[in-house]
Amino acid sequence: MNEATLISLLPFGCFCAFLMLQILFPRRPMPNVWWQTRFIHNLSLFLLNAVIARFVVPLSLLAVAASSYEAGFGLFNLIPAPTWLEVLLTVIVLDFSIYVQHVATHKIPLLWRLHKVHHADREMDVSTAVRFHPVELVLSTGYKAVLIALLGASEMAVAVFVLLLFVGPAFNHSNLQLAQWLDKLLRFVIATPDVHRTHHSVYRREQDTNYGFFLIWWDKWFDTYTEEPMDGHAKMNIGLPRDQESEQTRIDQMLLAPFIHSKAEARQSKAGAQKKP
Ligand SMILES: [Zn+2]
Ligand SMILES: [Zn+2]
Repeated sequence: MNEATLISLLPFGCFCAFLMLQILFPRRPMPNVWWQTRFIHNLSLFLLNAVIARFVVPLSLLAVAASSYEAGFGLFNLIPAPTWLEVLLTVIVLDFSIYVQHVATHKIPLLWRLHKVHHADREMDVSTAVRFHPVELVLSTGYKAVLIALLGASEMAVAVFVLLLFVGPAFNHSNLQLAQWLDKLLRFVIATPDVHRTHHSVYRREQDTNYGFFLIWWDKWFDTYTEEPMDGHAKMNIGLPRDQESEQTRIDQMLLAPFIHSKAEARQSKAGAQKKP
């Protein structure tokens, strides 16, 4: 089995593992019929994104690392470091860069229009991990490619990072019940499902916290960490405020959502227009 096949099988393997675990040890009860509809459409979006990544924008992060090495471009190609240190620094720097990117998608209205497709899911489980608008995914891959080139990260470091890119979100989006002691222990280093669920709260003040996709440090250091959701994990509402967003369960609704004015935005622009003399 070659490297490319292995990497393309990784998302599938992670997905199945956490799917099984969340069925065996669920954190919140999942309403059945409704759960299956959103689940199937989340997966459809993932398949569409996989096709775009394979045929439309075939940008391989590993190929970027190989090209930087051949060109002698980027920090680690200019200042060589021991492999373990280079892998560790690459993972930490890229993880922090994704934290910054995630904050930007919440603060910049144009990016939020794309990112809110991820937040419009009214439950959170392993399928939410792959629910991203294709335009957001393309922008995000381009951003990572630039950073990998600037770092001059090796193929091994990028492979480790890509692995975390699959495992981290599949883990912390899963509806998985962890023992309290384990959740507490993991929170010293990584974002657990309970940490990331708070980020999917309907309350904007909770949505604008717990941005970390793998390491939890940045949220703790930059004061964007919320320990527990106000309404508790069992009762909290997930998604976007019901009166502010149109239905986004089907794949066509998800794809069109960034280009449609929500009812709240329409109300705001109408109120703004009425205020003008
Ligand atoms: Zn977010
Ligand atoms: Zn999420």
